[in-house]
Amino acid sequence: MLAAPAGWFPVRFLSMTMTTIEKIRFRAGEVIFSEGDQGDCAYIVECGHVAIRARTSSGEEVQIGLVSSGELFGEMALIDQSARKATAMAQDHTELMVIPREHFEARLDSTDLLIRLFLKVLMDRYREMREHFHYALDGNYEAAPAARRIPGYIEETGKAKKRLEDESALRGALERGEFVLFYQPIVSIASGQIVGGESLIRWRDPARGIVPPSEFIGLAEESGIIVPLGAWIMEAACRNSVKLNEAPGASVFVSINVSGKQFEASDPVEDMRTVLRKSRADPGSIKLEITESLLMQDPDRAFEILQGLKSLGVQIALDDFGTGYSSFSYLHRFPIDSIKIDRSFVSKMTTDIKSREIVRTLCELATSIGMSIIAEGIESMDELQMLLGFGAGFGQGYFYSKPLPDSDFARMIHDGPGVRLGN
Ligand code: C2E
Ligand code: CA
Ligand code: CA
Repeated sequence: MLAAPAGWFPVRFLSMTMTTIEKIRFRAGEVIFSEGDQGDCAYIVECGHVAIRARTSSGEEVQIGLVSSGELFGEMALIDQSARKATAMAQDHTELMVIPREHFEARLDSTDLLIRLFLKVLMDRYREMREHFHYALDGNYEAAPAARRIPGYIEETGKAKKRLEDESALRGALERGEFVLFYQPIVSIASGQIVGGESLIRWRDPARGIVPPSEFIGLAEESGIIVPLGAWIMEAACRNSVKLNEAPGASVFVSINVSGKQFEASDPVEDMRTVLRKSRADPGSIKLEITESLLMQDPDRAFEILQGLKSLGVQIALDDFGTGYSSFSYLHRFPIDSIKIDRSFVSKMTTDIKSREIVRTLCELATSIGMSIIAEGIESMDELQMLLGFGAGFGQGYFYSKPLPDSDFARMIHDGPGVRLGN
């Protein structure tokens, strides 16, 4: 713990649960912390000098460093959570800025796993060196303890290694062209006509076979690989939309899932314009599926981007509606063409009255504000009939078809899913 200097009080009292950055002053000779104290904070010297003293293996205390204005000390105990290994003493009038453990840990938690690991390993090596150094002070190398390991070190190394391998496998898969897009039909509930298809990514891993997105999209987003992967998806889906609409009279749209990270890219509207030009896709046959969280991240920027995309002629669908913020208030603020009702409501709708009412209300609301409804995850005729009764325009789900390779989807457009409920 911090040694409170007699007669010279800190600018503010420092408690164990510090939440703000504080300043503290010491007079010459006052101890800032002692060897063996539990370290709750690190310090930056604002003015003055601090001597760092450590004990040799024979118990003699020697000065091992002098820290002055602008320098950091006391950081080791914060990083590896162990007791202070040295004593810090003010040499003259000294002012310190205190960095509490929770401030440091909050930042560390949001840091990349690999950076965290590097930091810990460096600290570990440094402490090891210091311990040997102390023994070396009296020429007593043999008495130095065996290398210490931070708790959980091996597990963390393992996690970081696995993550690096997974990331590199994903990058490799993109370079080798192992990703493919499957398409799940989107059908007019009343007529049974296929009006479009949602492109859903798969990884055709030579060793594991078809890998679903649930196993890699999260990592692709965290690692930033989603940006080049998303660009590939965009191009592949646009090119396929051209192929699907080649036949005389064909008119289907292709839905493309867009991740929030792709909106963070420098100019998503310009990127879309380039892809449309290169692929010669009709913008009217492209629908971008975005999520509520993407809108909420930075609503003003999202609005601007969506306006830009709409001006290119592409359509916007709000995906997984009902699972996120689900605020109706922003529906009219953004230029959204369709709402996709999440599968969790559709699958419970026939047995759970609340889900049914949510779906019914959403269908009414969408109609009244001129947006179309796409119900996701339809698996039964009962669900289909209920949706027809609610006036839902479009549906998607295993009842019609699972996601298919592009050639099978093209064949299905030709043959039709064969479920016609209305006129
Ligand atoms: P999502 O956008 O909500 O896509 C719908 C998911 O529900 C798909 O899973 C689809 O196969 C599944 N599904 C459709 N109908 C039914 C049904 O009747 N029953 C059941 N149990 N499931 C149904 P999938 O293909 O595994 O994709 C999972 C998620 O991965 C997607 O959810 C989307 O968030 C993400 N994803 C897929 N492809 C892409 C992509 O190209 N880009 C991005 N950014 N994300 C993608
Ligand atoms: Ca989707
Ligand atoms: Ca969805």
